[in-house]
Amino acid sequence: MGEKKKKIIKTIKIDADKCNGCRACEVICSAFHAQPKYSSNNPARSRIRIIRYPLKDIYVPVYAGEYTAAECMGRDKYVVDGKEYEECAFCRASCPSRDIFKEPDSGLPLKCDMCEGEDEPLCVKWCRVDALTYEEREEDVEDVEAPKELDIGLESLAKKYGAQEFMDAVARMSMKA
Ligand code: SF4
Ligand code: SF4
Repeated sequence: MGEKKKKIIKTIKIDADKCNGCRACEVICSAFHAQPKYSSNNPARSRIRIIRYPLKDIYVPVYAGEYTAAECMGRDKYVVDGKEYEECAFCRASCPSRDIFKEPDSGLPLKCDMCEGEDEPLCVKWCRVDALTYEEREEDVEDVEAPKELDIGLESLAKKYGAQEFMDAVARMSMKA
């Protein structure tokens, strides 16, 4: 058992009934994470995606969660108000079985980082209809070190291209550096 320590739990509450599908949250998220910051926007790079069904005025914001190296043994399929959504439509994982929540050029997994360094998540600030609201609370948690973003990215590349090809690429890059 690790030691207990205080941790700020950050929560974004999603009220899907208020979401109007404007996608401002996707725009600001992708712009904030562009390199350099705010140099471009592309919703395919956003860590929040809006699952849409405009005919029934249904829009459901879904946040990018953890990277998973292997897809699930089964699939989810939701029917809401008579509309059958694509398999895994509401899943938060960056997973090998689909393209959502992956950096389009590199294929690296994307994960919501709560806009690290900002006082409030930008998707919340940009949501004019309060479909997204931000809350913080303090909790006692086990002191377990989380894997670093770089480690997760490298692991996904090694899984995608194979360990040997990945190591060869690193060796080539270090020769050039
Ligand atoms: S900014 Fe708000 S209303 Fe617009 S799509 Fe995102 S969650 Fe929905
Ligand atoms: S909290 Fe920040 S990183 Fe997460 S989805 Fe919203 S804008 Fe993107």
